[in-house]
Amino acid sequence: MQNMDKKSLESDNIELKRALRLTAKKIEHNETILKRFFDVELRLLACNKLSDLLDLLLNHFKETFRLSAVSVFLFDPEQIALDLLDEIPATDRSRIRLEPDQRLLRQLYPDHRLKAGEIDQNIRNIIFPDNPYILSVAMLPLIRQNCLIGSLHFGAQDIHRYTVDYRYDYLAHLSSVISVCIENCVNHENLQRLSIIDMLTGAHNRRAFDIEIVREITRSDRTHEPLSCLFIDLDFFKKVNDTYGHQTGDRVLRTIGQLLKQQLRKTDLVARFGGEEFSILLPGCAKEQAASVAENIRQKIATQIYRSVEGTPFRITTSLGYSTYLPDQTQCAKNQKKQASLLLHSSDEALYEAKRLGRNRLCYKACAKPSPSSSITELITN
Ligand code: GH3
Ligand code: MG
Ligand code: MG
Repeated sequence: MQNMDKKSLESDNIELKRALRLTAKKIEHNETILKRFFDVELRLLACNKLSDLLDLLLNHFKETFRLSAVSVFLFDPEQIALDLLDEIPATDRSRIRLEPDQRLLRQLYPDHRLKAGEIDQNIRNIIFPDNPYILSVAMLPLIRQNCLIGSLHFGAQDIHRYTVDYRYDYLAHLSSVISVCIENCVNHENLQRLSIIDMLTGAHNRRAFDIEIVREITRSDRTHEPLSCLFIDLDFFKKVNDTYGHQTGDRVLRTIGQLLKQQLRKTDLVARFGGEEFSILLPGCAKEQAASVAENIRQKIATQIYRSVEGTPFRITTSLGYSTYLPDQTQCAKNQKKQASLLLHSSDEALYEAKRLGRNRLCYKACAKPSPSSSITELITN
């Protein structure tokens, strides 16, 4: 009898030890997961660019949590996210959907609650259209001030990865953190953008141009590459306003802003310098290339058909002046701001000449070098 008690005590002991080992392992595993979540949260909070944040969600999350697919929808009624994401890689772009209204988000989350479990085929076609192998999903509603601002989807090929009866407290917490981070990034970047962008045309504003031209002169001195500057003024624009109204004039300016951006490289900078005047910086562009870019622009603007708000078609022409800064390798450039003003001044004079010679043409003027007596600084305002 005593022997039997001893045996059962021993086996209880073994069982207890096994249970303890298992519990310790579980704790260790949970700690690893918690640490991973904690690291991810810190990285989320450190983002202040929407593209970085989405890269984290779409790529880093996928790897860290061994997911088969991640996609995200964002409510973007004013196309702010669209503007902020124009340089995002195509592979990421295909996993981001921007929604102009809330219809789809409301359909996905009628009760604003996180969903998890086996994926329905219709839902899979919407959230993972390129991935038919996803079998289970966690769908996180992104909510700010009781408004659905987006939806984040974690997909797995393992049908048991996400199940309905599992508790997803941490994912619910994560979706709140992500929602705040998205809102912060959009607000932060949009505010930054507003301070350098001209709202009517979408081109940079005068302030941004003034900063950038000095920066580019400095860069040109460092790299010994030329820098060309174009000055553009629409011909007889007052007549457009007088004939078709100010609203049509605005519409033309908007079209020209888009047209200019389409004609240029990513490294070039287009700014609305004032009313119906645009200025363009062409880094690394010598005189001949600048002439070709300017002529292209002249032709594009002249051949475009514009329409008044009532639908009447008309055409306009433009005059262009350009000048090229060639860094002097024998001379160490000291006053970049003064040099920037001289470049701008030469382009402006060339433009004036184009107007004087009859408009709808381009003219060139050599860029002067600063001399102790030159006092042309009024064109740069900053
Ligand atoms: P020129 O060929 O000599 O350049 O003639 P112009 O009529 O273009 O030049 P002028 O400087 O006399 O007139 C510029 C016009 O541009 C006058 C102004 O009403 C118009 N303008 C300036 N800013 C805006 C704007 O934001 N919207 C609209 N619709 N018109 C503008
Ligand atoms: Mg003008
Ligand atoms: Mg004009």
